[in-house]
Formats: sequence, structure tokens, C-alpha cells
Amino acid sequence: MAKKVQDALKDLVSLCKRRGFIFPGSEIYDGLANTWDYGPYGVELKRNIKNLWWKRFVESRPDVLGLDSSILLNPRVWQASGHVSNFSDPLVDCKACHERFRADHLLEAKLGEGCTVGKNFQEIAQMMVDNQIECPKCGKKDFTEPRAFNLMFQTQLGVLEGTGSKVFLRPETAQGIFINFKNIMDNVRPKIPFGVGQIGKSFRNEITPGNFIFRTREFEQMELEFFCEPGTEKEWYDYWRKYCMDFVFGLGVTKEKLRLREHAKEELSHYSNGTSDIEYEFPFGWGELWGIASRTDYDLTQHQKESKVKMEYFDAVANKRYIPYVVEPSLGVDRLLLVLLCDAYDVETLENGEERVVLHFSPKVAPVKAAILPLVKKGKVKEVAEEIYQKLIQNFNVEYDETQSIGKRYRRQDELGTPFCITVDFDTIGEGDDVKPENKGMVTVRERDSMKQEHVKIEDLENWIFAHLK
Ligand code: ATP
Repeated sequence: MAKKVQDALKDLVSLCKRRGFIFPGSEIYDGLANTWDYGPYGVELKRNIKNLWWKRFVESRPDVLGLDSSILLNPRVWQASGHVSNFSDPLVDCKACHERFRADHLLEAKLGEGCTVGKNFQEIAQMMVDNQIECPKCGKKDFTEPRAFNLMFQTQLGVLEGTGSKVFLRPETAQGIFINFKNIMDNVRPKIPFGVGQIGKSFRNEITPGNFIFRTREFEQMELEFFCEPGTEKEWYDYWRKYCMDFVFGLGVTKEKLRLREHAKEELSHYSNGTSDIEYEFPFGWGELWGIASRTDYDLTQHQKESKVKMEYFDAVANKRYIPYVVEPSLGVDRLLLVLLCDAYDVETLENGEERVVLHFSPKVAPVKAAILPLVKKGKVKEVAEEIYQKLIQNFNVEYDETQSIGKRYRRQDELGTPFCITVDFDTIGEGDDVKPENKGMVTVRERDSMKQEHVKIEDLENWIFAHLK
């Protein structure tokens, strides 16, 4: 029977370090709070996630194009998008201990499931008083009024200081897509409806980062802006909500731990006529994984106003011009990676009483697809195992390991989430006492979750792995 560990997140953070997935940032200099570096296995997991998203949302779709825009944009972009004036969270200080919090998070924590905290700061202030919100650090109920804290990081462009050289690190990749709308229309000439997808880093000076890689100040996003004719946005909004849910299900995430939550009216941004979050039940509670927003023509209209460049689409068949509406599914790479880690993590008690830590990754996302484990580390067995490794590594991320006992090697691969362990022994080479002649030329493949073993011919191995990665 699978045993779920109480403080799963703490154990997961330690497994991630121990097994080279994710390291605390700048560790040899005493660290830098809430920064994380992806180690050799984490980077593979991340690349698999990005490749799967790109394939599903861009490459395999004739109606979606790709883009890779800059992190630094003309500051007028952020004036037009509303980020300079509105991209802020309600910051409160505890007057007793001076710790800082997001007022909306304190209210959500106190009021629990189903509560709606709107965007009006006066209402938030009143809610803080009405609900007797306590400081999570010192327990006092004495906070400053909520004030807007802008989340954009500022930096300086070039050597001359001054307002003219002030730029922002992008807080989302989406605006890079909107400001290239005209370039794409004029030069690539897609027909509406069509989308533009992009993967890249974003930066937000979060008031309260934390929960491992759930909320960090530097993170990666996978965003799609899908442009459609006004009046069809509801249909596309429903379409993309389902498409995104299916994508997460397809990665093997536990269905009961996922839900689609539609935002209440008070929660909606002023430009949105529909927003939903796909949420996952993390060890610390339900949290947003993916935001899907119907953004009307707000962004393109704003850029048209600010830049004086027309953002219209001409529909030659209907002979009409309009500014397209947009539906945006926006997903954090690191957020999805955390979902996959939390969902895969398990501590099982085996029949012999031993504990087995295992990451039940879907083979598609697993950082290592197979491990080749010779049962003896010399002679022909080793030779054959090395040959198999050299062949497989051309197509898959595989590992070769001849150290320690076979049991320990299995445990290590279980902790990495490797779906298949391939053992090579005397049967494989058909030499030695008590060999089974029918197993000559065959390896034993052990499946991670069931621990069942199966014999596979060496020459069939590549196809066998391909077939099992689906
Ligand atoms: P919140 O209200 O929780 O701060 P948000 O609703 O502003 O988040 P979005 O702007 O919708 O977040 O961001 C889109 C996606 O980007 C999120 O669903 C999440 O997957 C990811 N994301 C946003 N902020 C962060 C962050 N600080 N760290 C990691 N991922 C993030």
C-alpha cells in the first residue's frame, strides 16, 4: 500500500536536492532567498515539459505560430498594457513585527475555499478588519492600509542613468506577442483564427514568494495568444479550457487533484469577459497551475492607441476590418514541473517491510527514460551492456550504472523516476552455468511502478522503448 508522507513538500525539496533535480540558488554564498537552480535531472524534466507543450500547442497545429521575443521591451509597452499603473498586489505591513504580506492571500487563507477577494483596495482593507485578520508571524491584528506594490523589476539600459534609460524586466511574455502582431500579420499573413505561442522567462518582484518553486521572482512561462473574430471568443475560451485540461491529463496527473475554477465577476480583470484557472491540490492546498483568460481586444487596442500603429485585421472574404479578440492560456513551466513532482512523489512500503521512494513520472516526462545495469562489471556482460547503452543514447536520455548492488541501483532509478531498468546478465550472453538458452540475446526490462520484469530482444529494445513512451 502506498504511504503518503505527512510533510510531502519538505521531503520533496530534499529529494530534489539529493538527486540533482533542483538546488537552492547561490548556495556556496549562503544562498539567495527563493531562488532555485535546476540540476542535471531537473533540466531534463523541464526540457521535456517545454518540448511537449511546444509540440502540442505550436508545432502540431497549423493555426499556431511560434515566437521568441525579448525580455527587455520599450517601457511604453508596459504603459500601454496597464502594467505600470495596475500590475500591483495589495501589500500590508504588520505594525507590530514589520513583516510584509499580500492582503488578498491573508484573506484567502482565513476565509478558505470559495471566498472571493476582489481588486478594490478599500474593500480589501474593510475585509481585513471585518474578518479580524491576524499576522501569521506574531499573531497581532494591527496592519497598515493595503497599498499597491508594483511587481515589475526595474533596471537601467546602458551607461547613462536617468528616466530615459529605465526599463523593466518583462512580467509576462504575452506583451511580446501583442507588439509583434503587426509584424506577423504583414509578413507571415495568417488567417484568423490563429495563435502565437511563446516560451520564455518572466520576472515579478513577488511580495511573498515561497512554497519551493510555486512562486518565485524569476520563472518561465508558456503562453499562447489566440486571435479570433469578436463574438467567437466564448467558443474559443471553452475550446482552450478543455484543450489545456486534456494536456494536463495526458501527462498522467491525478484527475481528482485537478479542477477548473471559473473566476467570479468581482475577480475578473476589467478587460476580461471570462477567466478560469486550472488548479492543482498541492501539499499546501489548492493553487493555480494555469490561467485561461478571454482578454477581448484590450491589449491590441491599447497598443494601437499608444503606438498609433493600426492593429486591425482585414477579413477579405467578409470584406470587414476589426481588432481581433484574444483568448490566452498562460502556464508556468516551473509550476507545471512542481505539479508533476508532487503528483509523482510516493513512499511505498514493500512486502518485505522496506521503504521505496519513487517518482511515478509518466514515461513522456521522465528525465531518464531507461537505465542499463549490467549484473557483472567485467567481461562480455559489461561489453554487451555498454554496446546497448551506446546505441540507446542516440535516441533517448539513458544512463549506464554498474556500481553497487542491483537493489541499490533500482532504488536510485526509482527516485529519479526512471520508468525502465534494463539488466544484462549471463543469460543475455548465453555463457556460464545454469543459463537459460531461450534468453540468449535478451535483456530483462523492469517496469518501475509494477516492478514486473519482461524479456526483450536486444535488437527490439529501441522500438520497445519508443512504444512505451507514448
Ligand atoms: P497570482 O495572482 O497567484 O500572483 P497570477 O494570476 O497573477 O498569479 P498569471 O499572471 O495568470 O498569475 O500567470 C500565469 C501563470 O504563470 C500562472 O498560472 C503560473 O503558472 C505562472 N506564474 C505566475 N506567477 C508566477 C510566479 N511568481 N512563480 C512561478 N510561476 C508563476
